[in-house]
Amino acid sequence: MRIVIKIGTSTLTHATGHLNIRRVEQLCKVISDIKNSGHQVILVSSGAIGMGVGKLGLRQKPSDIPTKQAAAAVGQCELMYIYDKLFADYHHTVAQLLITGEDIGNEKRHQNFRNTLNRLLELDALPILNENDTVATDEIVIGDNDTLAAIVAESVQADKLILLSDIDGLYTADPHKNPDARQIHRVHKLDDSIYALAGVSAGLQGTGGMITKLRAAQICMSCGCSMVIANGRRPENLYDILEGKDIGTTFEEETV
Ligand code: GLU
Repeated sequence: MRIVIKIGTSTLTHATGHLNIRRVEQLCKVISDIKNSGHQVILVSSGAIGMGVGKLGLRQKPSDIPTKQAAAAVGQCELMYIYDKLFADYHHTVAQLLITGEDIGNEKRHQNFRNTLNRLLELDALPILNENDTVATDEIVIGDNDTLAAIVAESVQADKLILLSDIDGLYTADPHKNPDARQIHRVHKLDDSIYALAGVSAGLQGTGGMITKLRAAQICMSCGCSMVIANGRRPENLYDILEGKDIGTTFEEETV
């Protein structure tokens, strides 16, 4: 199977903004094992800005663009350093791809990016993507990694996209506030009733929340790729998803 896994900032870091070492180590181990079992894996990882904020010793996440972009430049190095180090322990070679909306919008650049990704997979490397936050301005920004991950899944005709977040899946109400909130395990059709749940069911940290995840699901469902929202707190969820267990919320067109 060709699988795209998106890792959100909330999965990589503690609430303090510092790296969640145990979690990230476990994630890299599970992903390495999944690759060893024969699956092709592409990662889309957030966390550049968050890590940069920590490394530069800034007191809070900056709101102005130049500081955000500076933090991303510092944090992206740190992020790749950590991935390189941890995946090397399991003999996997990582590759970094940073892209913007322009690279997707321009057919030639999109094709180049697709060719590079396919070649990296043939070479058994582990591509790790993020938006190129240091140059992405309003006009060319993709904006969130849920969307980026779905675009990547569509571009390389992935079989599955797994969004690891700080929430177990899509709920009928906000589970942080409402004890009666029920998790929805399967969505076969993205209609207004599902979109209406996005506002009430958002995650706590990170950029996207539920609405960008539903938009990602829309992209995936229109190209026959199934998408799962699952909690990244437990990296072993990835094994369970691939074994077909009912983890998180799966978005899939019904096959007849
Ligand atoms: N590209 C951003 C970062 O690395 C994250 C965007 C997102 O999480 O959606 O900090």
